[in-house]
Amino acid sequence: MSVHWSALLVIGIILVTGYKELIHAIIAATSYFTILLVHEYGHGFVANKLGYKVFETRIAFFHGMCVFEEPYSEEHHIKIAWAGSLAQLLVAIPLIALSQVKAVSDISYLGPVYAFLGYISVFVALVNLAPSQGLDGHIAWRIIPLTYKKWRSKPKKKKKNYKIVK
Ligand SMILES: [Zn+2]
Repeated sequence: MSVHWSALLVIGIILVTGYKELIHAIIAATSYFTILLVHEYGHGFVANKLGYKVFETRIAFFHGMCVFEEPYSEEHHIKIAWAGSLAQLLVAIPLIALSQVKAVSDISYLGPVYAFLGYISVFVALVNLAPSQGLDGHIAWRIIPLTYKKWRSKPKKKKKNYKIVK
């Protein structure tokens, strides 16, 4: 794993601007990078499960990067593309639910965790799924034509012919 210099810039910005208390700023910065890690490891996890080698996980300013062996099937590529955002939602949704519990949400140190790993992460996951070149959505939404093609090529059930003897 490597961290791009621009990622360190984010830490700087969070430290300088966002939070008055240093500890909150550190928790915020850590949470921000955890989002990127969860996302990239989501890709890596599924790529690995499907039998592909994961060469590198990189973390940069707005997003990371997961470098893996070229998939030999379109379906695998699509699954790997979905895995990043789905991993984020898998973490974000329980956290958002947990933040609704008053006893837990009263712990102020957890505030930045809920904000980043919860709400902001959901936003980041959705942005990543936008069907635009360079984003996961560019590959992920190919699931629609692929599913359609699969459905079309499915052999139609032949009506069974029958014979009667009396
Ligand atoms: Zn991704």
